Amino acid sequence: TLLTGILFSLLISALSGLLLTRHQRPGKEIMQGIKRGQFHVEYQPLVTAHDGQPYGVEALLRWTHPTEGMIPPDAFISYAEAQNLIIPLTQHLFTLVARDAQFLCKQLPRGTRLSLNLSPLHLASESFRRDVQAWINIMPTDHFNYVFEITERSMVGEKSAGEIFAWLHENNFKIAIDDFGTGHSALIYLEKYPFDYLKIDRGFVQSIGTETVTSPVLDAVLLLAKKLNLKTVAEGVETGDQAAWLVNRGVTHLQGYLFSRPLRPENLVSYYQRQRAL
Ligand code: C2E
Ligand code: CA
Ligand code: CA
Ligand code: CA
Repeated sequence: TLLTGILFSLLISALSGLLLTRHQRPGKEIMQGIKRGQFHVEYQPLVTAHDGQPYGVEALLRWTHPTEGMIPPDAFISYAEAQNLIIPLTQHLFTLVARDAQFLCKQLPRGTRLSLNLSPLHLASESFRRDVQAWINIMPTDHFNYVFEITERSMVGEKSAGEIFAWLHENNFKIAIDDFGTGHSALIYLEKYPFDYLKIDRGFVQSIGTETVTSPVLDAVLLLAKKLNLKTVAEGVETGDQAAWLVNRGVTHLQGYLFSRPLRPENLVSYYQRQRAL
């Protein structure tokens, strides 16, 4: 299948350090998928921890392949990165989000946070600022508050990270450090860079209540976040017990299936309406 092909190709390129020559089909399929409208975006709500009210949404890319069906982003994003296709793919994401935003801005409250995931490769590229500017120009004016989610990988060996973050702040974008706790030397980055949000990885959240050793680490991270004045988003919250534990520890925002799965725009609007009615 395509998916196995992708994984196999990644393995090959990781092992040999060579770029794929015999497995170029999936790369072509991404470009074709863009042209043929096989990608769409789903939006997962984030809620404010203390009252459970909607706070914003995270845009998540979806690919429905004509023969393979749904291909998970974890598989095609890393493939797109390896094949130098992450920039066109992210430009396409911008286009899709802007299209959805024409509808969503009439339905969601002003000030709704809208976060997008960025690849470090794009962030470090010379087209990044231009792409972001072009996107903002086609987005509804003064409606959303933007957040870019980036992983720790963006900081590794990236001399200009500080400069890019400063540019983002000057242009009113907030920055979230994503998947926090899954990489190396993470704590150093928290002090070094001006993040606005810290997203606690699902792995941490899922261990709540199952491993006694986890809570001291998570406690330390949350304490540090508080000292540095960062907002905290716990992702992958699936149970009421997890939510209660997190709220108790002062986490400011929650995201996960307990509240909602990622939703198509129409369903996202219904979600907001239901929450408002509560
Ligand atoms: P992420 O940024 O950590 O996104 C959160 C992932 O957790 C999403 O998976 C979401 O559907 C899933 N999730 C949310 N709540 C729960 C929960 O309660 N339980 C469980 N088990 N899962 C939950 P998804 O959509 O499959 O995306 C996977 C990853 O792919 C994302 O992880 C992100 O790193 C990447 N990705 C997705 N869309 C994009 C994109 O547009 N651009 C880039 N660069 N990466 C993207
Ligand atoms: Ca994310
Ligand atoms: Ca994450
Ligand atoms: Ca993740």
